[in-house]
Amino acid sequence: MSGAPSPVPPPLDLAAIRAQFPILAERIHGKRLAYLDNAATTQKPESVLRALDDYYRHANSNVHRAVHELAARATTQYEAARDRIAAFLNVTREECVFTRGTTEGINLVARSFLQPRLQPGDEVLVTGMEHHSNIVPWQLAGAKTVAARITDEGELDLDDWRAKLGPRTKLVSIVHVSNSLGTINPVAEMVREAQQRGIPVLVDGAQAIAHEAPDLRALGADFYAMSAHKAYGPTGFGVLFARREHLEAMPPWHGGGDMIRTVSFERSTWNDLPYKFEAGTPDMSGAIGFAAALDWIDSVGMARIHAHEQDVLAYGTAQLADIPELRLVGTARHKAGVLSFVMEGAHAHDLGSVLDQEGVAVRTGHHCTMPLMERFGIPATARASLAAYNGRDDIDQLAAALRKAHRLFN
Ligand code: PLP
Repeated sequence: MSGAPSPVPPPLDLAAIRAQFPILAERIHGKRLAYLDNAATTQKPESVLRALDDYYRHANSNVHRAVHELAARATTQYEAARDRIAAFLNVTREECVFTRGTTEGINLVARSFLQPRLQPGDEVLVTGMEHHSNIVPWQLAGAKTVAARITDEGELDLDDWRAKLGPRTKLVSIVHVSNSLGTINPVAEMVREAQQRGIPVLVDGAQAIAHEAPDLRALGADFYAMSAHKAYGPTGFGVLFARREHLEAMPPWHGGGDMIRTVSFERSTWNDLPYKFEAGTPDMSGAIGFAAALDWIDSVGMARIHAHEQDVLAYGTAQLADIPELRLVGTARHKAGVLSFVMEGAHAHDLGSVLDQEGVAVRTGHHCTMPLMERFGIPATARASLAAYNGRDDIDQLAAALRKAHRLFN
């Protein structure tokens, strides 16, 4: 994921895309909605809403258990969703562990993979731009987190990262795309370098999967975590890809139904992969909805979405440069559709409230990246983040609202 994919795809039909997202027709304080909070969560197209509705109307039942017709429908649809997701990621279905999202996926690796191998003083090497969910689980598991330096532009200092890759590094964990800055990290290169030294790598793909179909087989990471809701799918569902040899060696972390083969009061044995890591009734509609979201992405074309977002990002970067007292935070050469900024004289939350009154939805705060905010010496930013349905008109609405905010606060 570095720069625009080639060849350049035909432009997407923005009006046709928008027509598929009913929520975009909502009026906000009487204004047109410019939804620019996609890094927090994306909106859902009709096809995903329909898949969820169809599931509950025609197939809802518990999976893997009963012999009746509805249970068979639910199980068939749920397992077909796993095949669809595995194909999208170019991995096997046994390597796709269903979770509640990126956060749960990382916690699973921290508890089941890392913790049993940890010796006192062992480290997890992360970067200075990690989401809290790629810091705290390692700390809870008992590891020391060491962070590689971030440059003033918001890029990872690779030399510093290499220097910190040491004999105590038990795991490398990297965010693929920064939610706060948009920076796209050179994960393929980093995976290769860490693995050459025998160090396993987790990639936090929360912000990446909506912008480029990751070929996880080609990437070669040991673990890759994602959330459906950041890629046009439902909330509360995610996938942890883990290499088969790791999953086979790792103990289960949650106990309960479905993850067992046999249970007795003396001893229990575990189900096959990936069920060994999926205790309890799963989120059937979540899986089915995510598969529908991936179908939707494929129907538009990931390369086309990427090229479109890059165009809107470049336009937005130029427009924001003209707003007085506004400073962009994060100007990396390889960036996904994120515009994080601060305005002199205005707290990010106040800025966000003024934008909201103008129909513009952005996120304000530390974006669950407190160490990164500290690195830039700021408490918070306002963040506009893009999806396929955003256009230059959303940026124009944002820029007009920011000019208004500037007049109010200065
Ligand atoms: N990692 C990154 C980079 C994120 O942006 C997020 C969510 O914002 C997460 C992890 C956590 O994702 P979730 O809350 O869906 O588990």
